[in-house]
Amino acid sequence: AIPLVVAISTSVSAQNGLLIRNRTAFEESRKISVLIFDKTGTLTKGDFGVTRIKSVDEKFPKEEILRLASALEQSSEHPIATGIIKKVNEDKITIPKPENFNAITGKGVEANVEGKQVKVVSPGYLRDENISIPEDAYSDAAETVVFVLIDGQLVGYIALADEIRPESAEAIKVFKKNNIKVFMATGDNEKTAKAVSDSLGLDGYYAEVLPHQKVELVEKFQNEGEFVAMTGDGVNDAPALAQANVGIAVGSGTDVAAETADIILVNSNPQDISNLILFGKATYKKMI
Ligand code: ADP
Ligand code: MG
Repeated sequence: AIPLVVAISTSVSAQNGLLIRNRTAFEESRKISVLIFDKTGTLTKGDFGVTRIKSVDEKFPKEEILRLASALEQSSEHPIATGIIKKVNEDKITIPKPENFNAITGKGVEANVEGKQVKVVSPGYLRDENISIPEDAYSDAAETVVFVLIDGQLVGYIALADEIRPESAEAIKVFKKNNIKVFMATGDNEKTAKAVSDSLGLDGYYAEVLPHQKVELVEKFQNEGEFVAMTGDGVNDAPALAQANVGIAVGSGTDVAAETADIILVNSNPQDISNLILFGKATYKKMI
């Protein structure tokens, strides 16, 4: 016979945008005391549009920065890449061919383009390389900024804007009511992270986070006695999802993150998690 819990969880997941991979995940969901969300595509829509392009090297004007960056971004599935390619198509720019394309895990992308080594990277990458961030990079707190390096030199940056999902605020109300602390861990910059966190009233945020730091963050909360759920969407999030008590992969569910997760959040909607937790609590109350 199918255990009751499995039958219930299957029906919950069918109704909501959830795939439950681990039988105990449904039962465990009611124990969650700390929830760590990724930002892009989960708390926000993940639908980026380019808002500003800035050159800091006269050899490479704005159009050239966008053109060289696009060679790398056409091979990336990151929402930032999608936003950059949208802009390039609007501007009818011909995308050059990259060679030796490589995704730098949790930090960006790199390739050779027309004999130059091009990188499009996060603020965390610049910090690690001791490259200083241009003062005007974060003039708008709502913007995400990626930096373009050519042969190791910073030549400019591309700013993009995303929107907070309306469902995020609704879900967070439910978490608060149930005494679940909600944090955000993102590879994005401090200012944007703070803007999203403040706007949603989160218990805290971690910005410019690298993949291994996500694992450490989960462990930190676990050492404090918390029962931790974490969401993540990329290959680089897989170790943190594995470490979490409840690992939640966001999106299509075909990649490495999905393979290590307990739950797959098919529609990337935080409200599906709040519904799951409420349903889990109600179900177990009835069974006792
Ligand atoms: P998040 O999902 O929180 O944005 P990721 O680990 O997916 O975190 O990415 C971390 C950071 O690395 C991004 O915020 C961005 O700065 C940079 N990054 C990742 N992929 C790309 C890409 N294709 N193009 C430019 N920057 C990227
Ligand atoms: Mg991500």
